[in-house]
Amino acid sequence: MTFKAEYIWIDGTEPTAKLRSKTKIMADGAELPNWGFDGSSTNQAKGHASDRVLKPVFTCPDPIRGGDDVLVLCEVLNTDMTPHETNTRAALVELEERFASQEPIFGIEQEYTFFEGDRPLGFPVGGFPAAQGGYYCGVGADEIFGRDVVEAHLENCLKAGLGISGINAEVMPGQWEFQVGPLAPLEVSDQLWIARWLLYRTAEDFKVSATLDPKPVKGDWNGAGAHTNFSTKAMREGYAPIITACESLGEGSKPLDHVKNYGAGIDDRLTGLHETAPWDEYKYGVSDRGASVRIPWQVEVEQKGYIEDRRPNANVDPYVVTRLLVDTCCTALEK
Ligand code: ADP
Ligand code: MN
Ligand code: MN
Ligand code: MN
Ligand code: MN
Repeated sequence: MTFKAEYIWIDGTEPTAKLRSKTKIMADGAELPNWGFDGSSTNQAKGHASDRVLKPVFTCPDPIRGGDDVLVLCEVLNTDMTPHETNTRAALVELEERFASQEPIFGIEQEYTFFEGDRPLGFPVGGFPAAQGGYYCGVGADEIFGRDVVEAHLENCLKAGLGISGINAEVMPGQWEFQVGPLAPLEVSDQLWIARWLLYRTAEDFKVSATLDPKPVKGDWNGAGAHTNFSTKAMREGYAPIITACESLGEGSKPLDHVKNYGAGIDDRLTGLHETAPWDEYKYGVSDRGASVRIPWQVEVEQKGYIEDRRPNANVDPYVVTRLLVDTCCTALEK
């Protein structure tokens, strides 16, 4: 007998990478081997030396096919087994090891927008819906668009065993959020990439597409972000490390080093309006949804907990944002 393995990888599309996948039929009991693909079709190679290697790094049950079938997230390698230049996971493996004793964990809030053709789901043909106000966490057919898809996606994430921790309708019609975590850096990132793949794949069956475009509708409509909640063991036990982490993110070139790696088109979204801080300013504050980094109110009350980096775009690479936060904050906390 056989089972199906869906090999999933992150491609080289600029400026925002896309997910790709293909199916391998496996003999029952066989181990998942490295596999190959045509890198010239994914912006990961030139035509004359186009072979790239898929190395399985994370496996979970395939909730779409069911049975013994699996989803297999892969790193992309060159044929000499070095990480391909588009492989941002390899660097996180090293950094996670270096700071493992600080026990960093992340919860990422993934916002996204459904589209039907060229319109966000719920936008009337040739016009706009009622202005924002009633849609966030709304209920009812006048406010909610795509809940059947969202419920199916949630069910699929749970069946796959992902650490999804919640969902909610967002501020713009057709815009939604799910959260993954809290989990260790590699875990949260691998699982977020799989949850994204499941989002596209689930929506496909409803003839709807999903996008991580950080500003899918220009003008007075909320963008889509990926608020990244972060703590270390010390931050979960005391308040001084919370402040140290917030301060470290504001030092020298750090604000720009982070923001320029927080997803393409970030200056379109971090305008200072729509619950954001301007992309070229750094500030942190308690309960402040206009800050770059928010300390949740209960964290101040309890004098321990976590911080929320509100800057990352919906299209951020989780391997990159978790690496940068661990690098900046854990280095400061080490001192
Ligand atoms: P918001 O109020 O900003 O919408 P959400 O409830 O959507 O917040 O998301 C908060 C995220 O923070 C969740 O994924 C949650 O699991 C995560 N989280 C909670 N505690 C911690 C912690 N100590 N460290 C890191 N992440 C955490
Ligand atoms: Mn072929
Ligand atoms: Mn949220
Ligand atoms: Mn949100
Ligand atoms: Mn948030």
